[in-house]
Amino acid sequence: MIYDDDNIFAKILREEIPCKKVYENEYVLAFHDVNPQSKIHILVIPKGKYISFADFSENALPEEINGFMKAVGKIAKNQNLVESGYRILANHGQNAGQEVAHFHIHIFGGEPLGPMISKT
Ligand code: 5GP
Repeated sequence: MIYDDDNIFAKILREEIPCKKVYENEYVLAFHDVNPQSKIHILVIPKGKYISFADFSENALPEEINGFMKAVGKIAKNQNLVESGYRILANHGQNAGQEVAHFHIHIFGGEPLGPMISKT
């Protein structure tokens, strides 16, 4: 699979479409999900062109992976989610229902989140 420069998160990174930005550094951009599934629902994306977790974990440089993971933790902390709890999730591929082919982690929180996987 080849990275598609026209995916929606690539357009957000190029500021061709807007987002509600939460955090940014040299490695990541984080913004509110347009269709939140919990009170707080933030997406964290790497600035590099990685299609999914499989691509990122295999091909990203160690400093990109480190920068990304550190940022996810920092964003959750900045959102005051450490004490109350939060969930992080990455969908890879068809069975997980990945919609956008630019690697992203969801951060959910701000309320009880229910079971880990829907049975419906
Ligand atoms: P996935 O199913 O790929 O793990 O998650 C993609 C997420 O991106 C979904 O939760 C969806 O609501 C969100 N999303 C899709 N398009 C946009 C957009 O244009 N802006 C923002 N902020 N989120 C989006």
